[in-house]
Amino acid sequence: MEKILNKEDFNREELAYLLSLHGEGRKLLLNKAAEVKKMTVGNKVYFRGLIEFSNICSKDCLYCGIRSSNKTIARYNASDEEILESCRFAWENRFGSVVLQSGELSSPAFIKRVDHLLKEIKKLSNGELGITLCCGEQSKETYAMWRESGAHRYLLRIESSNPDLYYKIHPDNDLHSFEKRVEALNFLKETGYQVGTGVMIGLPFQTYDDLAGDLLFFKSIDMDMCGMGPYIEHEDTPLYKYRDQLKTKQERFELSLNMIACLRLLMPDINIAATTALQAIDPLGREKALTVGANVIMPNLTPCVYRQEYRLYEGKPCLDEDAELCRNCLEARLELAGSEIGYGEWGDSKHYFQRTKKA
Ligand code: SAM
Ligand code: SF4
Repeated sequence: MEKILNKEDFNREELAYLLSLHGEGRKLLLNKAAEVKKMTVGNKVYFRGLIEFSNICSKDCLYCGIRSSNKTIARYNASDEEILESCRFAWENRFGSVVLQSGELSSPAFIKRVDHLLKEIKKLSNGELGITLCCGEQSKETYAMWRESGAHRYLLRIESSNPDLYYKIHPDNDLHSFEKRVEALNFLKETGYQVGTGVMIGLPFQTYDDLAGDLLFFKSIDMDMCGMGPYIEHEDTPLYKYRDQLKTKQERFELSLNMIACLRLLMPDINIAATTALQAIDPLGREKALTVGANVIMPNLTPCVYRQEYRLYEGKPCLDEDAELCRNCLEARLELAGSEIGYGEWGDSKHYFQRTKKA
């Protein structure tokens, strides 16, 4: 165990073994990851104000509460003013960056709208707010245009790097192609973004070996950032029928922390987000993730009127907490978790600079 933990590279079997740890062995893994985090990215945590600006989606992922076939939710599209207001809050409160997230659309109107928003966000913040986009698969031209207009990071989770599992959690059609998802990640790199990907942890049919493969996939594409968290079921989705086969939520939570810790060992200088789904299982979930390797947190700045309708899974937290409350609560908790907040800083991925220097 000690011998594995002191290595700098890991094979699939070693990773699957580390992921499966419980008890004392697990403690050693988490402590080692905390140590590596301290030595590489340090103690600072960066804020990205999360704005879930629309739940309208053309896709039908089998796990997601806002999939297009779910007719039980009201669809919304926040106005430009509402979105810019949230961005202004982020800027005035020195959050450093925002994340614009939405369902996936590829209509010319959507593409143009996002482009316009990017320019307006840069304008209102004198170019100071960093912008991450999380708006799904787009053409290379669209990614390039958005990059030009001010986005510099992009999150696109691979969801699972095992094509067999990918097709078990997505409909089998051209709109949900594994190959296209991988191609989109390549487009993002080619157009100059800091690229983030990730997976859901504790999916039905998923094994430790699959998750070890996911970690090696992240390494193989040399990604700069990662956002991954537990899969949580939603009753209005097709995957809900497998709920009896899932690990308990607590097990999925613990496995998610193991994934974060292993990733910190495998890719020491990337940015790793403490995601909201962790908090849906454990109120202090994100803070716990920070102590085992994560260094980015995404306070929710979605206007409260829309939060109920951006429910990807059951028990999504902070549905009625406004931005001010959310900030106060986070600051206090981060202090308790012993992290320093990088106010007003973009907190870019160190790995990105290493990667682009080499290229
Ligand atoms: N539509 C874009 C996309 O899919 O890339 C961005 C928004 S999508 C809602 C963001 C992420 O939510 C997905 O990448 C997925 O991993 C996560 N998600 C969706 N349903 C989930 C669930 N039931 N449990 C945990 N995460 C979920
Ligand atoms: Fe749409 Fe993203 Fe949900 Fe898939 S995960 S249904 S693309 S919002």
